[in-house]
Amino acid sequence: MNQLFEPGQVGGNYEVALPDNSIIFETKKEKIPGMLEAGEATIQAQAIDIYHRTITQQSHYHLGYHLVSNVMKPVAKHGLGFYKMKVNPKSCNGCGLCEKVCPMKNIHLEENQNLLKTPVFDKNCESCFSCLHNCPKEAITYPGMSKKKRDYQYRHPKVHVKELMNN
Ligand code: SF4
Ligand code: SF4
Repeated sequence: MNQLFEPGQVGGNYEVALPDNSIIFETKKEKIPGMLEAGEATIQAQAIDIYHRTITQQSHYHLGYHLVSNVMKPVAKHGLGFYKMKVNPKSCNGCGLCEKVCPMKNIHLEENQNLLKTPVFDKNCESCFSCLHNCPKEAITYPGMSKKKRDYQYRHPKVHVKELMNN
């Protein structure tokens, strides 16, 4: 018989592999449907465990992830320029969506010399790429991003952009 956990007690932790929106290590388009389907199945199985308050096997702590994350953060910041987002003024229409979907409130709109609204980035970027993936004009890039990249934007198909807005 399964061991059960009580409300308030941590009974397990869970992992779901989903497509990567990192731009550098983006998931290939053809792999995305299969990953989303597998992710749904995993989440349903996990939800059943949670519903039944089953104590699950603790997922192992991935030292590799931790190391990669600690190594990649400075590389991304200083080498790839993730924290130096740029806006192409020829593409940007000043709609302000980037400001709304930034979870760090790192973007605000200012009037430029042509009296057009344009996004300005602060220093609190967490490289989530929400602004870059959701800009309707594909106007946001960062210095390390290949100019040849096309069709790079990704949002989970069941997530509406309104759900990402912070106001
Ligand atoms: S979402 Fe894109 S088009 Fe809209 S203001 Fe931001 S950069 Fe410009
Ligand atoms: S990458 Fe994420 S945290 Fe950074 S400015 Fe864009 S939306 Fe905000």
